[in-house]
Amino acid sequence: MSITLYAGREKSLLRRHPWIFASAIHQVDETLASGATVDLLSSEGHFLARAFYSPTSQIRARVWTFKDEPVDKEFFRRKIKAAIEVRHRLQVESHSNAYRLIHAESDGIAGLIVDRYADVLVLQSLTTGSEFWKETIADILVEETGIQNIYERSDADVRELEGLPSITGILRGKMDDARVTIHEFGLKFIVDIQQGHKTGFYLDQRENRHRVGEFVKERDVLNCFCYTGGFSIHALAGGAKSVLSVDSSADALALLAENITVNNLHAERHTALEGDVFQLLRKFRDENRSFDMIILDPPKFAPTAAHAEKASRAYKDINLLAFKLLRHGGLLFTYSCSGGIDAALFQKIVASAALDAGTDATMIEHLSQGSDHPVSLHFPEGAYLKGLVCVKG
Ligand code: SAH
Repeated sequence: MSITLYAGREKSLLRRHPWIFASAIHQVDETLASGATVDLLSSEGHFLARAFYSPTSQIRARVWTFKDEPVDKEFFRRKIKAAIEVRHRLQVESHSNAYRLIHAESDGIAGLIVDRYADVLVLQSLTTGSEFWKETIADILVEETGIQNIYERSDADVRELEGLPSITGILRGKMDDARVTIHEFGLKFIVDIQQGHKTGFYLDQRENRHRVGEFVKERDVLNCFCYTGGFSIHALAGGAKSVLSVDSSADALALLAENITVNNLHAERHTALEGDVFQLLRKFRDENRSFDMIILDPPKFAPTAAHAEKASRAYKDINLLAFKLLRHGGLLFTYSCSGGIDAALFQKIVASAALDAGTDATMIEHLSQGSDHPVSLHFPEGAYLKGLVCVKG
């Protein structure tokens, strides 16, 4: 089976970028099935890469390999073993039993996310290719990790673009409880792997949560978009004077309360508010409230560059309000997980927020996703999380 590209459209493949858009395709074998393996050929018929086919997606093919090699169970075993090896080298397990084992394109398996939560793996298949090989991949995961239980969370919206239905449930082994307790830098977190966001927890912020804990002593902290309290728990454990956590999800806040209890933290120093951050920040401003540290970790406002403009306004809005609410010398931990906003643009947005808030600010740290979410040099889209720590002047 093969796909022939238009002349000149092989350029991205020669740079080892793994995506081929529909507009680059000149000819495709009509019998090619969704997720099936196909050779990508130049307009002159030369082999460029071996890929899988996504008939309904604008990203019509994604590369498995740039070599002329078989794509079979052993191919996936090599990829998975290499990904496991990287996590061993990172020694993530020295401070947590929850981490990303497979980070999609960046680990060579386009669209496959596998996160480990203690003795359960949560698998998310986002493309026709990862779907095609899902059972094989599940077998290899059990064989290579020794973890018997795999829960599937293939319920992300992007599956629609691939023509795939939402699928959740046990893929391997058993699960007596939807909730798993994990640990991170000595703190416990209850993760709902069936109903929680993404695969249950925002693993990408692990090191950044720990960093907050190091800056927080005796500070009054406002944690916006707190989810189940990742930053709040680290702040309380780090000796914050007070922590105010805001989220629109009642379920997330209920789990946050449990997370405070299981860690034996000072519950009296914590307040949870269910509501909309955009509105609450305005309310706090009108009430002249102030904080020593503000954390802004909003959801993805710009999944792609097409949403960048609207998203930029939303980021600017919350950052501007946060600068106003910060005391002199206070710290802003601000993040964007939007693929459509790169690090340079994010920095500009935060700078213009400080400008409009009428304040000086200094960046003291640039933050990103944890190293268990690696980024292929040829797939810069894999770097999605950026963060800045700013001191209000
Ligand atoms: N910092 C968290 C992850 C935050 S995820 C951690 O480390 O675990 C983003 C959160 O924002 C989600 O919990 C979602 O419920 C919440 N959210 C989304 N829009 C919101 C809004 N407008 N106001 C308040 N919370 C919102």
